Amino acid sequence: MADRTVTPAPLAPAPWAEERGAKIRITAVRTFLTSPHGCPHLIVRVETNEPGLYGLGCASDPQRTLAVRTVLDEYVAPLLRGRDPDDIEDIHRLLLNSAYWRGGSVTGNALGGVDVALWDLKAKRLGAPLHSLFGGRVRHRADAYTHVDGADPAEIADKVTAARERGFRHVRVQMSVPGSDTYGAARGAGGEQAARERRVPWDSAAYLRTVPAALARIRALAGDEVELLHDVHERLDPRQAREFLRRVEEAGLYFVEDLLAPEDARHFARLHAASPVPLAVGELFHDPAQFTALLDGPDIDFARVRVPTLGGLTPARKVAAFCELRGVRLAPHGPADVSPVAQAATLALDISSHAFGVQEAATFRPAVHEVFPGTVVAVDGGLAPHERPGHGVDFDEVAARRFPVPEPLEHDRWALLRAPDGSVQRP
Ligand code: MG
Repeated sequence: MADRTVTPAPLAPAPWAEERGAKIRITAVRTFLTSPHGCPHLIVRVETNEPGLYGLGCASDPQRTLAVRTVLDEYVAPLLRGRDPDDIEDIHRLLLNSAYWRGGSVTGNALGGVDVALWDLKAKRLGAPLHSLFGGRVRHRADAYTHVDGADPAEIADKVTAARERGFRHVRVQMSVPGSDTYGAARGAGGEQAARERRVPWDSAAYLRTVPAALARIRALAGDEVELLHDVHERLDPRQAREFLRRVEEAGLYFVEDLLAPEDARHFARLHAASPVPLAVGELFHDPAQFTALLDGPDIDFARVRVPTLGGLTPARKVAAFCELRGVRLAPHGPADVSPVAQAATLALDISSHAFGVQEAATFRPAVHEVFPGTVVAVDGGLAPHERPGHGVDFDEVAARRFPVPEPLEHDRWALLRAPDGSVQRP
């Protein structure tokens, strides 16, 4: 599959290729699908004519994995073969413009995978850690947040205390709601299996009655010396979002995440102006332009950049620069479906951007460390980058084969969620 081609005509080299006379060329763009954490990781390897020199990127999109892979294998790879890998900005623009109908999350993930691989490759050629290409370090480590969930405030507060004992100063807290599906709380009504199959409907009224007060109780039990975060996961409409903010003030949250869906982004200005809680949004954005209106205000406090989906580090760095100029902090997306390759690439941005606030940090299964040597682990509540060349995470192709993605690929679980009246609900 990786070498099939529907666009065999090579693209003309960059106009300056001859005067530069560079000898290095891209020889292949290969894709690998593996699942050592239980979710599909789509890895991109950009290979060159220099023995042993390659770059690694991540194009993981759990719901559209095969579509992203097709874009990479059939459209992007043929355009890159034979090109000088040094011209990252030019290649990014060229790939964006290679289709008349641009954009979309599938294209964004494909471009993101290639872009991160090209940055990794450039840093390796220069013998430098990736963050040093972005101006160098501005901090020792990137503060990270971990996730806890539970059935009641006491259980969750105990887990927050345990996370603090592991060094975390930032903890995302999610609570199950009796009789309702709840995002991020594994033991929703009916047990894990029912929650997984989305057999329990999402009841926004029950959520609004229960969760804001529970968050305040968790704050009282856990104390003031820990930052608490919460993810609404775009499940409220604008009216409900206003009600949530009114009720949640006492919890003293560090931020509330995805209070609204991207489709409702125009409501952020009004919500933000009256909100007692900092607002974070952006993990669903696949185009940096989606951030511009929100940063203009600014109408948000944290930009949740997802590096692979946004199109890679090239556009993510531009969003980070805009954030810095607007006094908005970065809180990059980083659950386990962002592979260790993308995590390390995101960390290079975190460690070199003054706008950085906090990084979501997955705790990967042991198998992930076998497939991705150099996977970064949170220590003392933060992530520290490697000082080796590139982003510092490698990919073991042989180990990856031991963790094939489950067949058939799960792609529709999100679509099963409904409200009590039977209407389709956002994931
Ligand atoms: Mg989220």
